[in-house]
Amino acid sequence: MEDALLEIVAAIKAHSQTIDAVWLDKLVRRHNRATHDAQRTVAKRRLLPFYLDVRQNDPDRWQSWDIDPDTEAQLLRLLKMKPRRTASGVATITVITKPWPCSSDCLYCPNDVRMPKSYLSSEPACQRAEHNFFDPYLQVKSRLRALEQMGHVTDKVELIVLGGTWSDYPEAYQRWFVRELFRAVSDDEPYDGGPERIDASGAIAPSPRQATPGGPTCLQMGPHDTVAQRTACYDACGIPSSPEALAAAAKARQREVNAGTLSYSQATRQLMRTASWQQASEGQVATWDEVEAWHHANETSRRRVVGLVIETRPDLVTPDSARTMRRLGCTKVQMGIQSLDDAVLAANERLVSRQRIAQAFAVLRAFGFKVHVHFMVNLLGSTPEADKTDYLQLVTNPHFCPDEVKLYPCVLVESSRLMRAYGQGLWRPYEEDELVDVLVCDTLATPAYTRISRMIRDISACDIVAGNKKTNLRQMVEARLAKRMGEVREIRLREIAGQDVRRDDLRLECVSYDTCGTREHFLQWVTDEGRIAGFCRLSLPDPDALQACVGQPCLPTAPHTAMIREVHVYGRVSGLGTSEQGAAQHAGLGRSLVEEACRLAREAGYGQMAVISSVGTRPYYRTLGFVDAGLYQLRNL
Ligand code: SF4
Repeated sequence: MEDALLEIVAAIKAHSQTIDAVWLDKLVRRHNRATHDAQRTVAKRRLLPFYLDVRQNDPDRWQSWDIDPDTEAQLLRLLKMKPRRTASGVATITVITKPWPCSSDCLYCPNDVRMPKSYLSSEPACQRAEHNFFDPYLQVKSRLRALEQMGHVTDKVELIVLGGTWSDYPEAYQRWFVRELFRAVSDDEPYDGGPERIDASGAIAPSPRQATPGGPTCLQMGPHDTVAQRTACYDACGIPSSPEALAAAAKARQREVNAGTLSYSQATRQLMRTASWQQASEGQVATWDEVEAWHHANETSRRRVVGLVIETRPDLVTPDSARTMRRLGCTKVQMGIQSLDDAVLAANERLVSRQRIAQAFAVLRAFGFKVHVHFMVNLLGSTPEADKTDYLQLVTNPHFCPDEVKLYPCVLVESSRLMRAYGQGLWRPYEEDELVDVLVCDTLATPAYTRISRMIRDISACDIVAGNKKTNLRQMVEARLAKRMGEVREIRLREIAGQDVRRDDLRLECVSYDTCGTREHFLQWVTDEGRIAGFCRLSLPDPDALQACVGQPCLPTAPHTAMIREVHVYGRVSGLGTSEQGAAQHAGLGRSLVEEACRLAREAGYGQMAVISSVGTRPYYRTLGFVDAGLYQLRNL
């Protein structure tokens, strides 16, 4: 690792003209080829953490490298990792809730007793969560530090809360979790321990946390805990955080779950009844006043929450649960759909029907949420052709039409109950060619207003007993689509991402479509080639049609109120109050999208506009003439 880093430094000092991402890739490959045991020891993503670690913790070694400030600035720019992570204009942070029983037990769903249902302890976000006791404050702090170490701006943060089914957790826990998320983004407390350190060999090494002076004596979790106090609290409760201790503690329960003698929910109830977790859980409660106080603080803090995403199931989406999610500050809901075929849903023991899924869509859209669904191919009982038909229904039938889709194949993991069907020859993974063909067909069927955000689940190959292990599945699909890119309309493949854009090269297009209960207008700024620089989702609700679909009144606003469900402008993240030349976020694209949406709503006879603003964007909408009004901000038309 050090040799590779010093070669990069030497090239920067020599003012080499060839230093770019391609050059860096070649250098990394060359260093790996040179290793004697053919083990990969240099990884691009580890170079920057390694450099920062040496600079902070091994000053003699760092000084021997003789790096002046200019060289360091160039080095950091070059090593900035994963530009996509903030290319959409926002730094995304995924946090995981604690293990908890799920009120369903779907056949394909992993049963890792160390995790909330459906997640695996080998997934990167899950490893971070475990290392931080699933504490939202510690998870966000650790991720902010890692992103900033990688050179990303973190002024605008989207928080994604994953783990089992949100609505299954007690409401007091939900309030506490969200209060702590907002506190972590809003206060200036640094993070001083975490899994992101890279040792000299390039391996990820958990760093020792700083213990509270005098040892871990703090037993009460408080609403103003520092990172060290909060960490000491979990330590004092006796909750382990090292992977070895966690694996040892879970071993017997996991064996029983895999053997089918204990269910995941029973195992998790046992875990939550242990003295350690009972003690920790006592402090995991908060009031609405506390949540709202931290919302308020975030409106003026250095970092703002520009999106809060919550994951739940369609059968738990009701007007009441939607109101609670909105009150928490949620702007987008991730919902596991998996299939619209009632026979496939039943075969996989999903406790939901196609009709109930349609109701959930109507409720979420009535409340203005962005609807992000999970959809699976290759489920038990399906076929490649049936999957294609099912997906076409999802993206074109007015009862559904999601805004975003996580589209991924079912894979077999050892802890899932699908193992038995596999053993009996009732389920088999699609061949690679069949799978890519389905995903190509689905991508081409996706309309201009839908974004395919992912094509695989982040499950490590060693956990997959059967099914796709290729992490570059999406690239394989794109390669097959290469000659048909002109036909692709879905959002992600058209995003300008981090590219600069000139306002003069953009035109405003409107794609309109009907759903059951609303007329939707998708306004998009596009280049002549169809690349997308920003968009707005305008929803014009019909209260009677919504009521007919849901079976009860469900509109959270007064009649004749239109709803802006999303405004998104691409471009590299520029700091709040600063301007980056050419960056789309500062070309006034958002403001003109809002004005066009207001014009369309006025013409359609609506008297006011609501916007489902996130907490951190409320000040922006006030400058556009919106006023705070309960769950939304409103503007007369
Ligand atoms: S509802 Fe979701 S988390 Fe619960 S068992 Fe089904 S897939 Fe797993």
